[in-house]
Amino acid sequence: MALLQISEPSQSSKPNQRKLAVGIDLGTTNSLIAIVRSGQADTLPDINGNHLLPSIVRFRKHTYPQVGHSAKNHIIDDAANTVVSVKRLMGRGVQDVKSLSNSLPYAFEQGNQGMLMLKTIAGQKSPVQVAAEILRTLVEHGETSLGGKLEGAVITVPAYFNDAQRQATKDAAKLAGVSVLRLLNEPTAAAVAYGLEHKQNATVAVFDLGGGTFDISVLKMEKGVFEVLATDGDSALGGDDFDYAIATWICGNLGLEAELNLPQQRYLLCQARMAKEALCKTESIVIPLDQWPSSNATVALPQDQILLSLEQMNELLDPIIDRTISVCKQTLKSAEVTITNLDQVILVGGSTRTLRVRQQVSAFFQCQPLTSIDPDRIVAIGAARQADVLVGNKNHDELLLLDVLPLSLGLETMGGLVERIIERNSPIPAAQAQEFTTYQDGQTAMMIHVLQGERELVQNCRSLARFELQGIPPMVAGSAKIRVTFQVDADGLLNVSARELSSNIVSEIQVQPSYGLTEDQMATMLQDAWGYAETDQISRGLHEQKVKAERLIIALEKALEADGERLLTQDQLVKLRKGLQTLANLSAGQDHEALAKGVDQLTKASDEFAALRMDESIRQALAGQPINVI
Ligand code: ADP
Ligand code: MG
Repeated sequence: MALLQISEPSQSSKPNQRKLAVGIDLGTTNSLIAIVRSGQADTLPDINGNHLLPSIVRFRKHTYPQVGHSAKNHIIDDAANTVVSVKRLMGRGVQDVKSLSNSLPYAFEQGNQGMLMLKTIAGQKSPVQVAAEILRTLVEHGETSLGGKLEGAVITVPAYFNDAQRQATKDAAKLAGVSVLRLLNEPTAAAVAYGLEHKQNATVAVFDLGGGTFDISVLKMEKGVFEVLATDGDSALGGDDFDYAIATWICGNLGLEAELNLPQQRYLLCQARMAKEALCKTESIVIPLDQWPSSNATVALPQDQILLSLEQMNELLDPIIDRTISVCKQTLKSAEVTITNLDQVILVGGSTRTLRVRQQVSAFFQCQPLTSIDPDRIVAIGAARQADVLVGNKNHDELLLLDVLPLSLGLETMGGLVERIIERNSPIPAAQAQEFTTYQDGQTAMMIHVLQGERELVQNCRSLARFELQGIPPMVAGSAKIRVTFQVDADGLLNVSARELSSNIVSEIQVQPSYGLTEDQMATMLQDAWGYAETDQISRGLHEQKVKAERLIIALEKALEADGERLLTQDQLVKLRKGLQTLANLSAGQDHEALAKGVDQLTKASDEFAALRMDESIRQALAGQPINVI
């Protein structure tokens, strides 16, 4: 895939045929799909004209899940099977979500390998499966309204998402049969939506407060190149917390001390949200409580409505908004930017409609933020513009986005310490190598433990993977040279390899985050999905693999033609050409699995070449600025 990202759009094989590539904002609360048509990016409505698809999935017995508005109708009467805010659970383990269990009404279970599962009437479901249902629905809307098969999608993720969360998002897309052109950070997408890449030398802060996540990024535009100077946020902070604060206030006022049941909690949260949204247009609101779900009269209400003033709400929200402002301060500091250096502040996410948020943000940044593009749609619109470029529809000015790594990556060294290899906020794609040695005479193997985080001790960082380098020739301690290379691709995913330099023994791992899916699990889930598929998913899968293979072949052929002789040895060239032929043969056949394997193999085989080309293109774009290269 890496090759596609740098293919020259103007060399598209069929220049007159526009490819259907979409942007997808897979939101905690709402998800959207957008596309560029006649040069304009816009979100696509469903058949009822709704642009926002609530990110809600209701599982049912022996039939399809309901997704979106139809599922939303059941968040009170079927709370336990109606999954909301699944994005908060993506790539997380059972331990990680303990603190959320108050606000989410499902039963969590531990699946294989510590994977978080939700108990539903249709069986255990992983967050990845739930997200896949949302993606599948969006793609169906897209394909129906565009009247054709989608080529691929750029899917947005909060900049703060870690490796596991990004991988989980990609897994969900794979499960939904969506080909991911690239994962894109949401704040970056917002800046693209405003067309800020055409600015010369501007520094912009993107403040994104959605339903469940908060992101703040500081971007710098220079001669058409974006660089994310710093990005931070909180993957568990958003409008849901406003709802929760208001609901808690209602409980306090009505003297509801007893434990509420699920429907009651959901009902209060719903009423709280409606009140909050209404309070951006009025000074006070009467919150109706007359539909209180009091089956068996568990907890009765003393009154059937309650008055909430804007002033009262502001007081409730301030502590939450303050948390966003502290993160902003920190982020400006790590970007080494002062408020006066900022040219623009962009507001993103439905929660930035809250008047108090606007007030506090304007006061902190001492300026009037940009709000002209709908804060709900802006991310999908930016993603669509990026998808249009990546798929080769744009004829000029390829948009090169440089994102940064959200968390440092390193490995464990003696004594449980972490040696950071790639620092947080390094531009990606990035590669960095470091040499290590053995600590015992005659040591023939070395365990490599890959970690993510900013702390010094292993126990305080997140463990991403472990692998072993075996077959080191026995030597005295300290004389073996083991070169460990970390490579982060444009999606923020990590590949680690270790090479013993005297013997050239190599061991390598594509980091499978602790809560990602194994290929086996993925296969099982695909089977699961087929169980209730309307269309023939098997042939669809084969078709998709063929499209993938074809694209890879075209991109690689073109890349070889352009740079092969210059960047590769004769041996490497022959190997890649042979790989091309093998894949072309597989693509002509009907064996889905063999074809998928072939695509993977050739992608891997061409990775190094892709990295060489990408480094070169980035180096050119940065025009002399230093980047991390081995
Ligand atoms: P996400 O990116 O998490 O999917 P969105 O950007 O769609 O979230 O924002 C959803 C949040 O925006 C919800 O918490 C919703 O209540 C809030 N929201 C939507 N409209 C308003 C409004 N008028 N005033 C305040 N909050 C709003
Ligand atoms: Mg959002």
